[in-house]
Amino acid sequence: MKRRSFLKGAAVAAATGSAGAFPAPAIAQQTFHWKMVTTWPKNFPGLGTGAQRLADSITEASEGRLTVKLYAAGELVPAFEVFDAVRDGHAECGHDAPVYWVSKNKSTPFFGTVPGGLTAQEHNGWIYSGGGQELWDELYGEYGLRAWPAGNTGCQMGGWFQNEINSLDDFKGLKMRIPGLGGEVVNRLGGTSVNMPGGEIMPALQSGVINAAEWVGPWNDLAFGFYKVTKYYYGPGFHEPCACLSMIVNLEAYEALPKDLQRIVRDCAAAENTRMLADFTAANGSALQTLIEKHGVQLRHFPDDVFRETMRHGLDVVAETAAEGEINRRIYESWAKFRKEAMGIAPTSDYGYMQARALYKES
Ligand code: CA
Repeated sequence: MKRRSFLKGAAVAAATGSAGAFPAPAIAQQTFHWKMVTTWPKNFPGLGTGAQRLADSITEASEGRLTVKLYAAGELVPAFEVFDAVRDGHAECGHDAPVYWVSKNKSTPFFGTVPGGLTAQEHNGWIYSGGGQELWDELYGEYGLRAWPAGNTGCQMGGWFQNEINSLDDFKGLKMRIPGLGGEVVNRLGGTSVNMPGGEIMPALQSGVINAAEWVGPWNDLAFGFYKVTKYYYGPGFHEPCACLSMIVNLEAYEALPKDLQRIVRDCAAAENTRMLADFTAANGSALQTLIEKHGVQLRHFPDDVFRETMRHGLDVVAETAAEGEINRRIYESWAKFRKEAMGIAPTSDYGYMQARALYKES
């Protein structure tokens, strides 16, 4: 066959779908159109932009066979209705923080972060390779859901306070925005914890509904402008040593996908998990500098005895979740075993190195 006639034949075969050099698929490929509801303001740095990048990645990797359209908090459902919206099938998927769903089940924060818990790297170790994902599948399966890590902020700050925290007494009278199990720690220290979506924190601080707040870290906190109402910025936080965000899916919608699209969803979520942490790691350093040098923010560390007490209460609150039920007990035990081993190796691993690195300061 001459080259010209071969090409002509192939073009005809492709156009007509007849068998030949380029056989067409036996059946037309089905396309799927998913809605992704999120707990974040539209294109909010890191969280919102990461969720958008995840939605776009799935659409692109699947060549449009699975399109994902993102809805910011409040566009389709309010931030804190994401879990229910995905469970009910109002949206096929969401991007959220598992710590927000503590009111649904006391153990959901383990898959995001808990007081006294794991760093981002350790958390990934537990979820991907230490049995965490299987427990997450089991717990969320009870709600007709599944979720995977799809972003991480890294270690979060302790929050913004109008007055210095010099002793445990300074927690008394605090009305603090702090979600998840960390909120219960603040309650036990004599304060009052309040949970609200990120977009509502600044107005609540300005109106005096709350007088302290934690959100994420320098990059995100600078974006919301908390330095305009509070000057004392404490870090690190005891309550969110990392914050793993997740892609949550309606299990029925997920199982309706062919295997290759399911794989694309999972792999795009895993890619975003790495990518978002990189964004936070890259942006937080200069944002902290801006807060201190440009906006006069006073950076503080919680005194050791205060931090120790937050750890004590934090670990109590975390351990108490085990009494909620059989699955809750297994989640706690798996996590606690992993934490113990992680703490065992930490002094001779990243943590040990970071301490050693700080022994010499360049002038
Ligand atoms: Ca937070």
